Amino acid sequence: LKTIVTKVDIPLSYGAAFEGERIRKDDLFVEMGGGKTQCTELVEMTEMDEIEDNKITVVGPEIDDLGEKGGRLPLGILVKVAGRKMQPDFEPILERQIHHLVNYAQGVMHIGQRDIAWIRTGRPAVDKGFKIKHIGQILHDMFHKDFGNILDKVEVILYTKEEDVKKHTENARAVYKTRDERVESMTDESVEIYYSCTLCQSFAPSHVCVVSPERTGLCGAYNWFDCKASYEINPTGPNQPIEKGEVIDPVLGQWKGCNDFVFKASRQKITHYNFYSIVNDPMTTCGCCECIAAVLPACNGVMTVHRDYTGETPCGMKFTTLAGVMGGGQSSPGFVGHSKYNVIQRKFIAGDGGLLRMVWMPKSLKEELREQLIRRGEELGHPDLIDKICDETIAIDEAGVMEHLEKVGHPAVSMDPIVG
Ligand code: SF4
Ligand code: ZN
Repeated sequence: LKTIVTKVDIPLSYGAAFEGERIRKDDLFVEMGGGKTQCTELVEMTEMDEIEDNKITVVGPEIDDLGEKGGRLPLGILVKVAGRKMQPDFEPILERQIHHLVNYAQGVMHIGQRDIAWIRTGRPAVDKGFKIKHIGQILHDMFHKDFGNILDKVEVILYTKEEDVKKHTENARAVYKTRDERVESMTDESVEIYYSCTLCQSFAPSHVCVVSPERTGLCGAYNWFDCKASYEINPTGPNQPIEKGEVIDPVLGQWKGCNDFVFKASRQKITHYNFYSIVNDPMTTCGCCECIAAVLPACNGVMTVHRDYTGETPCGMKFTTLAGVMGGGQSSPGFVGHSKYNVIQRKFIAGDGGLLRMVWMPKSLKEELREQLIRRGEELGHPDLIDKICDETIAIDEAGVMEHLEKVGHPAVSMDPIVG
């Protein structure tokens, strides 16, 4: 008994036409995530008899409980799915759909993914009767419609109490980590096939991610395995295998097969890019990247900033400004979007000197990656690299960063000039 959905059961118009909508501050009624509260998404596979299809539960306050003026809520979205053809490998693919599926509702905006999601709902949508539970309804209805070939049951739990969201987020982060680490022992050299991702073209039309084992998608939600699984589910979908073909530059990371694919998929806008460089024709960047790196010429290195850090940075731009300027799908030498996990992947800006070029990161990102940064530092002969990387508690301007680098003897100081 399969659910066949023709229409999404919510009190709002629904469709791709509403995807790019913004909710202006004056229309805003309720906001979840976006740096002010936590908003975390997770899709989890379960056994068929453990869940009830179309059961949608809001644990905690609903929109009605916010009163006349609206306000903010934390949100934890847990989607449980089951099906005879379902596999744990498919969880990240379903999870990444939450972004566009929620965005399709008129008057509801969704940005980001994983534990950096951000949902805004305007007053007109709330006046029409929109509730938190409808986020669950959208996911139930659309998962059946789009992924009916792999799943039979969808249950959604929406947590809106802070302590529950916190617990959900901790659990989700452990799951993300396990997913990320699946590619840890793989190298780009060990495979002939990379995968494309064009999911973000609705916002950044010329943007094409090519995902290799050592360069995860810049949203952090898709690695090489995930794209491979996505292609299995949907062979004509946004993740296509790319035969990397002839090596054009092994150091900067450029292949003929990838260039040819990107040229076509970007509708002739992008002729080529390098996987391992920020200085020379870097990969294109779209607005949902987890981090944006920037060259700091006076420091002979690079900095990176993640979405959750809202303060100033030594490149003179905050994350939101960087994302606004770089996130349109172009290749911008000196800047590149990347996932958090990519920082500690071995090919991270390898063509420009690699992780030893990292001179500044927000403290919270250093802490989040602490274990892995120490491990990578050891591999590179600098076990104390993490302590040599400057952060906002030390300096937020290039001169101050440089002073710190010289004081601690950061390896970037004695490397070749980063820009010729
Ligand atoms: Fe795909 Fe890249 Fe967008 Fe992630 S950022 S969804 S990998 S196109
Ligand atoms: Zn994107």
